[in-house]
Amino acid sequence: MQINATLINLYHICKRECWLHSHGITMEHTSDTVYDGKLLHENSYSGRSEKHSEMIVEAIYNGISLTGKVDFYDSRQKIIHETKRGNKVEQAHVWQVKFYLWMFQLNGIEGATAILEYPLLRKIDRVELTVDDIRYLIHAVSEIASLKNSDHCPSVINAKICESCSYFELCYVGESI
Ligand code: SF4
Repeated sequence: MQINATLINLYHICKRECWLHSHGITMEHTSDTVYDGKLLHENSYSGRSEKHSEMIVEAIYNGISLTGKVDFYDSRQKIIHETKRGNKVEQAHVWQVKFYLWMFQLNGIEGATAILEYPLLRKIDRVELTVDDIRYLIHAVSEIASLKNSDHCPSVINAKICESCSYFELCYVGESI
């Protein structure tokens, strides 16, 4: 089984979204949010891409294959940089980069930290990985593995975030929230 950073991110937003995505039901190509995010990333740090490129990180934990794509890694300073669109700081972003830091540790790279960059907010957040974070990530990975193995799609969450979710029509067809 493989669990990637997207699933870690979605797990913290909505378990139903995590389940749908993990079962191959993807609608992101219709999402302006995702498209805008790609554009923003390309435009915000266009100078960086000449020197740095995205990096695939992989690790194995308890027989589960973990993988993710880091925006860019400054190996000299041991800092992961992750750029996020939008005008909101989300816990899901923090757990996504903590997941990267954990995979780095599983590959023997100790002491790395991360920076979350929000160009629209002109804000950066520094992220470190603690022992408690690792315990939590182990729990999250186990829960996501259960979601992937389950035929049961979790219920809708009736949250504000649903309005900007690419699964909105799928989840609420014929309903109003
Ligand atoms: S629309 Fe809401 S309930 Fe449905 S997947 Fe998206 S966030 Fe989850």
